[in-house]
Amino acid sequence: MRLIFLGPPGAGKGTQAALICKRGAVPHVSTGEMMRAAVGSGSELGTRVKKYLDAGELVPDAVVIDVIRDRLSKADCKQGFLLDGFPRTVDQAQALTKLLSELKMPITHVLELKVPDAVLLERVRKRGEQGSGRSDDTEEVVAKRLQVYWKQTAPVTQYYRSVGTVHEVDGLGTVDEVLGRISKVLGLK
Ligand code: AMP
Repeated sequence: MRLIFLGPPGAGKGTQAALICKRGAVPHVSTGEMMRAAVGSGSELGTRVKKYLDAGELVPDAVVIDVIRDRLSKADCKQGFLLDGFPRTVDQAQALTKLLSELKMPITHVLELKVPDAVLLERVRKRGEQGSGRSDDTEEVVAKRLQVYWKQTAPVTQYYRSVGTVHEVDGLGTVDEVLGRISKVLGLK
Protein backbone atom coordinates (compact mmCIF):
# COMPACT_ATOMS: atom_id res chain seq x y z
CA MET A 1 0.00 0.00 0.00
CA ARG A 2 1.34 3.36 -1.05
CA LEU A 3 -1.35 5.84 -0.13
CA ILE A 4 -2.12 9.51 -0.40
CA PHE A 5 -4.68 11.05 1.94
CA LEU A 6 -6.21 14.26 0.64
CA GLY A 7 -8.64 16.57 2.40
CA PRO A 8 -8.88 19.95 4.10
CA PRO A 9 -7.67 20.78 7.62
CA GLY A 10 -10.16 19.28 10.07
CA ALA A 11 -11.28 16.47 7.75
CA GLY A 12 -9.76 13.91 10.11
CA LYS A 13 -6.76 12.98 7.98
CA GLY A 14 -4.30 12.78 10.86
CA THR A 15 -6.56 10.61 13.04
CA GLN A 16 -7.54 8.24 10.26
CA ALA A 17 -4.02 8.10 8.85
CA ALA A 18 -2.63 6.93 12.19
CA LEU A 19 -5.27 4.17 12.45
CA ILE A 20 -4.85 3.00 8.86
CA CYS A 21 -1.06 2.88 9.25
CA LYS A 22 -1.50 0.63 12.27
CA ARG A 23 -3.91 -1.64 10.39
CA GLY A 24 -1.85 -1.77 7.24
CA ALA A 25 1.54 -1.76 9.00
CA VAL A 26 2.96 1.09 6.93
CA PRO A 27 4.77 4.22 8.11
CA HIS A 28 2.72 7.39 8.58
CA VAL A 29 4.49 10.14 6.66
CA SER A 30 3.06 13.48 7.76
CA THR A 31 4.91 16.52 6.45
CA GLY A 32 3.07 18.67 9.01
CA GLU A 33 4.39 16.49 11.85
CA MET A 34 7.86 16.59 10.35
CA MET A 35 7.73 20.38 10.10
CA ARG A 36 6.48 20.74 13.69
CA ALA A 37 9.22 18.40 14.91
CA ALA A 38 11.83 20.47 13.06
CA VAL A 39 10.51 23.69 14.62
CA GLY A 40 10.43 22.03 18.06
CA SER A 41 14.00 20.82 17.80
CA GLY A 42 15.25 24.20 16.66
CA SER A 43 17.07 22.65 13.69
CA GLU A 44 18.17 24.70 10.71
CA LEU A 45 15.11 23.43 8.80
CA GLY A 46 12.90 24.40 11.73
CA THR A 47 14.20 27.94 11.77
CA ARG A 48 13.54 28.25 8.06
CA VAL A 49 9.93 26.97 8.17
CA LYS A 50 8.59 28.36 11.46
CA LYS A 51 7.22 31.58 9.98
CA TYR A 52 5.11 29.67 7.43
CA LEU A 53 3.59 27.34 10.04
CA ASP A 54 2.81 30.27 12.33
CA ALA A 55 1.03 32.10 9.52
CA GLY A 56 -0.86 29.04 8.23
CA GLU A 57 0.92 29.34 4.89
CA LEU A 58 2.61 26.65 2.86
CA VAL A 59 6.31 26.00 3.26
CA PRO A 60 8.03 26.51 -0.15
CA ASP A 61 7.72 23.51 -2.48
CA ALA A 62 11.49 23.00 -2.83
CA VAL A 63 11.90 22.66 0.94
CA VAL A 64 9.10 20.17 1.49
CA ILE A 65 10.00 18.13 -1.62
CA ASP A 66 13.57 17.71 -0.29
CA VAL A 67 12.20 16.53 3.04
CA ILE A 68 9.86 14.02 1.39
CA ARG A 69 12.58 12.71 -0.95
CA ASP A 70 14.78 11.93 2.06
CA ARG A 71 11.92 10.33 3.95
CA LEU A 72 10.64 8.11 1.12
CA SER A 73 14.15 6.90 0.38
CA LYS A 74 14.41 5.36 3.86
CA ALA A 75 14.24 1.58 4.20
CA ASP A 76 10.90 1.46 6.07
CA CYS A 77 9.07 2.98 3.08
CA LYS A 78 9.97 -0.03 0.94
CA GLN A 79 7.02 -1.86 2.53
CA GLY A 80 4.65 1.00 1.70
CA PHE A 81 3.68 4.33 3.24
CA LEU A 82 0.83 6.71 3.83
CA LEU A 83 1.29 10.35 2.87
CA ASP A 84 -0.68 12.75 5.07
CA GLY A 85 -0.51 16.44 4.21
CA PHE A 86 1.61 15.95 1.11
CA PRO A 87 1.31 16.85 -1.75
CA ARG A 88 -0.29 20.25 -1.08
CA THR A 89 0.32 21.87 -4.49
CA VAL A 90 0.20 20.58 -8.06
CA ASP A 91 3.97 21.19 -8.35
CA GLN A 92 4.52 18.95 -5.31
CA ALA A 93 2.25 16.30 -6.85
CA GLN A 94 4.20 16.36 -10.10
CA ALA A 95 7.52 16.17 -8.26
CA LEU A 96 6.18 13.22 -6.26
CA THR A 97 5.08 11.36 -9.39
CA LYS A 98 8.58 11.77 -10.81
CA LEU A 99 10.29 10.75 -7.58
CA LEU A 100 8.13 7.65 -7.11
CA SER A 101 8.66 6.62 -10.70
CA GLU A 102 12.44 6.86 -10.13
CA LEU A 103 12.10 4.81 -6.94
CA LYS A 104 9.80 2.36 -8.78
CA MET A 105 7.12 2.64 -6.11
CA PRO A 106 4.02 4.21 -7.65
CA ILE A 107 1.02 5.28 -5.56
CA THR A 108 -1.61 2.53 -5.19
CA HIS A 109 -4.54 4.56 -3.79
CA VAL A 110 -5.50 8.21 -3.52
CA LEU A 111 -8.25 8.92 -0.99
CA GLU A 112 -10.06 12.16 -0.38
CA LEU A 113 -11.83 12.73 2.93
CA LYS A 114 -14.91 14.88 2.31
CA VAL A 115 -16.35 17.10 5.05
CA PRO A 116 -18.50 20.23 4.57
CA ASP A 117 -16.73 23.57 5.26
CA ALA A 118 -18.97 24.56 8.19
CA VAL A 119 -18.13 21.29 9.97
CA LEU A 120 -14.40 21.78 9.32
CA LEU A 121 -14.35 25.21 10.96
CA GLU A 122 -16.23 23.89 13.95
CA ARG A 123 -13.96 20.86 14.34
CA VAL A 124 -10.71 22.76 14.11
CA ARG A 125 -11.99 25.48 16.42
CA LYS A 126 -12.88 22.82 19.00
CA ARG A 127 -9.50 21.18 18.55
CA GLY A 128 -7.87 24.57 19.32
CA GLU A 129 -10.07 25.16 22.38
CA GLN A 130 -9.33 21.69 23.72
CA GLY A 131 -5.64 22.44 23.48
CA SER A 132 -4.44 20.42 20.50
CA GLY A 133 -0.99 21.76 21.27
CA ARG A 134 -0.87 23.15 17.75
CA SER A 135 -0.08 26.84 17.67
CA ASP A 136 -1.83 27.05 14.27
CA ASP A 137 -5.26 25.98 15.58
CA THR A 138 -6.32 29.55 16.42
CA GLU A 139 -9.38 30.91 14.63
CA GLU A 140 -7.37 33.36 12.56
CA VAL A 141 -4.76 30.85 11.39
CA VAL A 142 -7.41 28.17 10.77
CA ALA A 143 -9.28 30.55 8.44
CA LYS A 144 -6.01 31.16 6.60
CA ARG A 145 -5.25 27.43 6.37
CA LEU A 146 -8.67 26.75 4.85
CA GLN A 147 -8.19 29.58 2.37
CA VAL A 148 -4.77 28.17 1.40
CA TYR A 149 -6.35 24.74 1.05
CA TRP A 150 -9.04 25.86 -1.40
CA LYS A 151 -6.65 27.93 -3.46
CA GLN A 152 -3.49 25.80 -3.57
CA THR A 153 -4.38 22.28 -2.47
CA ALA A 154 -7.84 21.58 -3.90
CA PRO A 155 -6.33 21.51 -7.45
CA VAL A 156 -4.20 18.53 -6.33
CA THR A 157 -7.38 16.41 -6.28
CA GLN A 158 -8.03 17.43 -9.89
CA TYR A 159 -4.47 16.46 -10.77
CA TYR A 160 -4.96 12.94 -9.36
CA ARG A 161 -8.35 12.64 -11.05
CA SER A 162 -6.68 13.45 -14.36
CA VAL A 163 -4.07 10.69 -13.94
CA GLY A 164 -6.14 8.00 -12.18
CA THR A 165 -8.81 7.37 -9.56
CA VAL A 166 -9.54 9.39 -6.45
CA HIS A 167 -11.59 7.47 -3.89
CA GLU A 168 -13.94 9.88 -2.18
CA VAL A 169 -14.72 8.96 1.41
CA ASP A 170 -17.45 10.59 3.52
CA GLY A 171 -15.65 12.06 6.53
CA LEU A 172 -18.80 12.63 8.61
CA GLY A 173 -19.67 10.33 11.49
CA THR A 174 -17.67 8.65 14.23
CA VAL A 175 -13.97 7.84 13.93
CA ASP A 176 -14.93 4.14 13.65
CA GLU A 177 -17.47 4.74 10.91
CA VAL A 178 -14.99 6.68 8.80
CA LEU A 179 -12.27 4.11 9.50
CA GLY A 180 -14.65 1.40 8.26
CA ARG A 181 -15.26 3.26 5.01
CA ILE A 182 -11.56 3.78 4.36
CA SER A 183 -10.67 0.19 5.25
CA LYS A 184 -13.26 -1.01 2.75
CA VAL A 185 -11.74 1.05 -0.06
CA LEU A 186 -8.31 -0.35 0.79
CA GLY A 187 -9.50 -3.92 1.28
CA LEU A 188 -8.31 -3.96 4.91
CA LYS A 189 -10.32 -5.69 7.57
P1 AMP B 1 -0.57 19.92 8.71
O1 AMP B 1 -0.21 19.31 10.02
O2 AMP B 1 -0.55 18.92 7.59
O3 AMP B 1 -1.85 20.70 8.75
O4 AMP B 1 0.59 20.96 8.36
C1 AMP B 1 0.89 22.05 9.22
C2 AMP B 1 1.66 23.12 8.47
O5 AMP B 1 2.90 22.58 7.98
C3 AMP B 1 0.98 23.69 7.23
O6 AMP B 1 0.07 24.73 7.55
C4 AMP B 1 2.18 24.20 6.44
O7 AMP B 1 2.68 25.41 6.96
C5 AMP B 1 3.22 23.12 6.69
N1 AMP B 1 3.12 22.02 5.70
C6 AMP B 1 2.81 20.71 5.95
N2 AMP B 1 2.81 19.99 4.83
C7 AMP B 1 3.13 20.85 3.82
C8 AMP B 1 3.28 20.71 2.42
N3 AMP B 1 3.09 19.53 1.81
N4 AMP B 1 3.62 21.81 1.70
C9 AMP B 1 3.81 22.99 2.30
N5 AMP B 1 3.67 23.20 3.60
C10 AMP B 1 3.34 22.14 4.38
